[in-house]
Amino acid sequence: MTEQDTQAVATQRVAIVTGAARGIGAAIAERLAADGMAVAVLDLDQDACASTVDAIAAAGGTALAVGANVADEQSVTNAIAAVAQGLGAPTVLVNNAGIIRDNLLFKMTVDDWDAVMGVHLRGAFLMARAVQKHMVDAGYGRIVNLSSTSALGNRGQANYSAAKAGMQGLTKTLALELGRFGVTANAIAPGFIATDMTAATAERIGMGFDEFKKATAAQIPGGRVGVPDDIAHTASFLASEGAGFVSGQVIYVAGGPKD
Ligand code: NAP
Repeated sequence: MTEQDTQAVATQRVAIVTGAARGIGAAIAERLAADGMAVAVLDLDQDACASTVDAIAAAGGTALAVGANVADEQSVTNAIAAVAQGLGAPTVLVNNAGIIRDNLLFKMTVDDWDAVMGVHLRGAFLMARAVQKHMVDAGYGRIVNLSSTSALGNRGQANYSAAKAGMQGLTKTLALELGRFGVTANAIAPGFIATDMTAATAERIGMGFDEFKKATAAQIPGGRVGVPDDIAHTASFLASEGAGFVSGQVIYVAGGPKD
């Protein structure tokens, strides 16, 4: 740990996890709270954050529900101000909010393209730009961006693949620009994780979710599909004090190698 890292251990970190009402984001929020951070549980609908906030509180942690649209500049500005006022200056950011609008290229609409770019890329950009001020002031920060194995290309996901590849470029650039201020930026690229998102994919291709998971697991060296806690565990490491010399990396969490 650097001297800055060591000094910071004494204070409780404030983390923001976007898209944390459910799925991977909820698991990350609960894990970071268990790690000792005060966590802003941010999602489109503030009321939808209640289950994650309640789970954190029940486990003895501190959490704040924040309703915000990460793709909207003013909404992001308001959300960061609410977090700073309610919990303190945020120095850990997990850009997890995401949507899919899958379709083959010839059927993909401009709205499908823009919506996916808006939440993933514009959202991560707006959040990182707003939170970096607090990180730079603190001389410390951890940014974790959710990419995907789809960044390597995936049929029916021209928009999502491009966005998730873009998350990797954004991550590396944040690492280059913010490193001197004690801020790391890394990306997690999950493979198949069982959530509402993958359940929606199963529905789109006309398969039952259990059948879809079984067929996918057969293709994974680890012999199973992922669960949100697999990603939360990785995020916990990247957001930790001790990971201060890990930056600009993309970690594939997919039960096997990806390239
Ligand atoms: P999920 O279950 O669909 O949850 C995504 C969350 O993001 C939802 O609570 C959603 O809110 C929220 N959200 C959507 N748009 C938002 C916006 N504009 N502002 C704020 N919050 C917004 O998805 P997940 O499977 O947990 O995925 C989480 C992240 O991991 C995503 O970035 C996804 O692309 C990535 N990922 C997932 C997998 C996988 O296999 N599941 C694999 C690779 C990468 P609403 O409920 O209101 O829509």
